[in-house]
Amino acid sequence: MSEQLAPLVVVGGGAAGYFAAIRLAELVAGRPVMLLEATQKVLTKVRISGGGRCNVTHHCFDPGTLTANYPRGARELRSCFTRFQPRDTVAWFAARGVQLKTEADGRMFPITDDSRTISDALELAARQARVEVRLGASVQALEPLETLAPAMSSCGRFKLRLKDSQELVAAAVLLATGSAPAGLQLASYAGHVVDPHVPSLFTFNVKDERISGLAGIAFAEVKLSLGVGDGKERLERSGPLLITHWGLSGPAVLKLSAFGAILLHANAYKAELKINFLPQLSAAQIELELRNFKHSAAKKQVAKHPPFPELPRRFWQQLVVSLKIDPELVYADLSKTDIQSLVVELSQGRYAIHGKGVFKDEFVSAGGVTLKEVDFRRMESRVVPGLFFAGEVLAVDGITGGFNFQAAWTTAWIAATAMAETVTGS
Ligand SMILES: Cc1cc2nc3c(=O)[nH]c(=O)nc-3n(C[C@H](O)[C@H](O)[C@H](O)COP(=O)(O)OP(=O)(O)OC[C@H]3O[C@@H](n4cnc5c(N)ncnc54)[C@H](O)[C@@H]3O)c2cc1C
Repeated sequence: MSEQLAPLVVVGGGAAGYFAAIRLAELVAGRPVMLLEATQKVLTKVRISGGGRCNVTHHCFDPGTLTANYPRGARELRSCFTRFQPRDTVAWFAARGVQLKTEADGRMFPITDDSRTISDALELAARQARVEVRLGASVQALEPLETLAPAMSSCGRFKLRLKDSQELVAAAVLLATGSAPAGLQLASYAGHVVDPHVPSLFTFNVKDERISGLAGIAFAEVKLSLGVGDGKERLERSGPLLITHWGLSGPAVLKLSAFGAILLHANAYKAELKINFLPQLSAAQIELELRNFKHSAAKKQVAKHPPFPELPRRFWQQLVVSLKIDPELVYADLSKTDIQSLVVELSQGRYAIHGKGVFKDEFVSAGGVTLKEVDFRRMESRVVPGLFFAGEVLAVDGITGGFNFQAAWTTAWIAATAMAETVTGS
């Protein structure tokens, strides 16, 4: 009697779901692989990502260094990156005719600067591997069946119920539903703990006369120190800073927002930010430079002549005015107190954060399926054997720069490999 093989089912047609379904279909050639997508469109986030250019990954090929870019999941991802890392992503796309380029800050994009290149390549690879993609197939319930037979059997191990009450039996299931609440509910009904979702990667709302009207002014390198709550524990990050209409943004702020996401959420996004605008100089060196200027530039107006070339001129002028230093004052007349105030402002200026803004280029949240219940060697549930996870459904998130897609590619690749082993027995 010829039994029909139960399909291997991937739930969610995003980056992780597609990548996994392709690998899975390539490994289990002949066995049905089904990709169920709730909406009428697949790869939506891939298309809108990176401002329409898709920041596919990051030019960082050392697993240890790479993990430092993940506020949550770094420890678990480390060994995963020894198996599939950005170099493999580059090779995977190259093998499918997509060349990636690296920008000065390490972000990698398709040379076409068009995210369609990536979504088209994924869709073509899925067609070639004979993945059956079903649109409008929202999975509403997932029920693990009693193990009726050994893994190699054609018998299904999960029953899935779709929106239209249609039922489907699957040999193994991969949840790649991103941050969608419906997907997290499936995991939760299956017995998994889900860490609550809170936003990550956001800008800081700051209203302060020292930066008001200076939107667009950027600093190449600052050091930020964030104090939340009682302020005992401070988070520090360095990098470029940008003044915006609403406050502060730029890579240093985004990194800090990601690493402080949970703490900031718990404190209603009220915090104190200390900014070191001259991190390459100590406070003593800043003071010495100002004192030197009293002699070398004695007749020059303080407000018009910033002694530090790395400081934007307009910011310096506003800082001087905010300290009530007469704009006409010349360096020779700069008092000890003024010098002290400037040193403090430049080395540890304090700014009150009173809310969060939106970083339009990338939306990511912290939270998802709790990590200790997932075996990262296989991306398989420790609670329900035969259930796998990949991508943003997990409580893993990265900072901006291509790290979130890389986590999706890596976890999808490992999950698909393990799923294929489960059904082929190899
Ligand atoms: C505007 C924006 C820009 C971004 N830019 C970048 C970038 O340039 N680089 C980067 O690294 N990261 C970027 N990210 C983050 C990145 O897009 C995500 O980390 C990544 O898409 C996660 O992939 P995923 O497959 O896990 O989830 P998703 O892409 O969210 O896919 C999940 C899919 O599952 C479907 N689904 C959910 N529930 C069900 C269900 N019950 N049944 C069936 N289907 C279901 C959803 O409809 C969706 O299609 C960006 C995010 C946004 C929002």
